[in-house]
Amino acid sequence: MARRKKIYEGKAKTLYEGPEPGTIVQYFKDDATAFNAEKHAVIEGKGVLNNILSEFFMLGLGQIGVPTHFLKRLNMREQLVRSCEIIPLEIIVRNYAAGTICKRLGIDEGTQLPRPVVEYCYKDDALGDPLVTEEHIAAFGWASQQDMDDILSLALRVNDFMSGVMLAVGIRLVDFKIEIGRIYDGDFQRLVVADEISPDSCRLWDIKTGQKLDKDVFRRDLGSLTDAYTEVARRLGVMPNNPPAPGKPTLVN
Ligand code: 5GP
Repeated sequence: MARRKKIYEGKAKTLYEGPEPGTIVQYFKDDATAFNAEKHAVIEGKGVLNNILSEFFMLGLGQIGVPTHFLKRLNMREQLVRSCEIIPLEIIVRNYAAGTICKRLGIDEGTQLPRPVVEYCYKDDALGDPLVTEEHIAAFGWASQQDMDDILSLALRVNDFMSGVMLAVGIRLVDFKIEIGRIYDGDFQRLVVADEISPDSCRLWDIKTGQKLDKDVFRRDLGSLTDAYTEVARRLGVMPNNPPAPGKPTLVN
């Protein structure tokens, strides 16, 4: 069998050249890292759950007209996506205070924010993904003003979609991170939601109990990460033996 070409190996995913030009295969690994990779573990099944959950969210976004790089899931660990140029920014949307905003601004964890707060971090592991302003983004040419307008609009649409989907299954979307890619079509470019959307990149709390169902379980040693992600997948009706059906989440009492 021909060996496929590895393009990039990240902390949680490996990218391979896809079968057609302009496509990439995203392989979801079981590796979990935190605190800029200072903490690392291999958590069996995490990659499978993230692959299926990311498929569910990306398909749902596509259904409401939010462009994404997602093409199709290939198997339990891999999905086919459109190749794009990743803008070197992490776009974070926060609905409730948690994580770095608590430390930075002295806000209690769980405080509801007056409106969704969008932040940008420069994607650079060596620098610890520092928070940057639109002034930095413009000055260093990472994105144009038009790009920034489009990115803000995409981020807020993703937030509305994800908040609604999670609310329907009794989960609060506290915050999340997305990445945006450029796809070139001749002289034109369009922006798409890229990378992944999964409990690795969101904070998800059970609305009734406050139980954390996201990567903070690993960051803070709060129990089984697989159990937490499985609970999210179960509530959304996308457990691996039950193929994803976007738009058909299971209601919980
Ligand atoms: P915070 O800034 O509080 O650490 O993170 C805010 C949100 O963005 C959290 O949901 C967190 O999981 C996500 N996030 C921030 N940086 C990264 C990152 O480098 N990788 C992933 N997967 N998620 C991130």
